[in-house]
Amino acid sequence: MEQIATLLGDTRPALSDGAIGTMLQAAGLMPGASPEIWNVERADAMRVIHTAYADAGARLLTTNTFGGTRPRLALHGHEDRVHELNEAGARIARDVADGCDALVLGSIGPTGDLMEPLGLLSHDDAVDLFAEQAGGLAAGGAHILLFETFSDLGEVRAGVEGAHRAAPDLPVAVTMTFDLKGHTMMGVSPSQALAEISALDVELIGGNCGSGPDEIEAVMVTMSAERPDGVLLLAQSNAGLPQLVGDEFRYGGTPEVMADYAVRMQELGVDVIGSCCGSTPSHTAAMREALGLHVQTARG
Ligand SMILES: [Zn+2]
Repeated sequence: MEQIATLLGDTRPALSDGAIGTMLQAAGLMPGASPEIWNVERADAMRVIHTAYADAGARLLTTNTFGGTRPRLALHGHEDRVHELNEAGARIARDVADGCDALVLGSIGPTGDLMEPLGLLSHDDAVDLFAEQAGGLAAGGAHILLFETFSDLGEVRAGVEGAHRAAPDLPVAVTMTFDLKGHTMMGVSPSQALAEISALDVELIGGNCGSGPDEIEAVMVTMSAERPDGVLLLAQSNAGLPQLVGDEFRYGGTPEVMADYAVRMQELGVDVIGSCCGSTPSHTAAMREALGLHVQTARG
């Protein structure tokens, strides 16, 4: 298994991209529709989104596969297309990444089902679900598997086990969302997350999504103070604080807000800095400029 530190090279922090869902909606994805089906039916639109982030300076491109586990795809009647949709999503991102020396983060989100004993999903079944998705992402060429927006450490353990089983050559990254008074929805603190996830042989750990840059900053202050040797940190904040407008969340964070956030993360020694819901390539570009990073020019 290649180390993430080796993949990232010497340029730190490395800039990762921003929201995929926000960009899909802007490109016409209807509320309630399946994002992952775009990996086969709207592959050109997906390529445009990844290219826009790469052109803005992102060194790590995230696949459009957050809801790519079987239970999430089943919501759209696509439960028999797990391998296909994940492989296609990784392949599109990889094609773009290969043109600009970027890396592909294969996105894996929670299954949406609660684990035992609170829910009905057993550890072994969860391992199988994540292994199935990880196998598709590996086949499509993802460099790193990114478990993101998790709140249950039991589900993280199942995910990492499934990833190691189906894609033993791929390193794993994990972010949790600490949106409940500094804890995840399931009551996990940043200290606990860092200690327990690093014990699973995960090299890149952090926080994402949630209630905006101030929340992520508090998480990263703790994680940077407590990080074990060899662990890299990853921060992917939403673009500002989400506000409920009518029945949908809007994100008020401007590119300037996200540029300030990126600099604060850099000061804390965060290794990979990106953004989450509500962000666009203009946020990524502002972050790149604030961090003094250069856009990778296309090879050849
Ligand atoms: Zn988010």
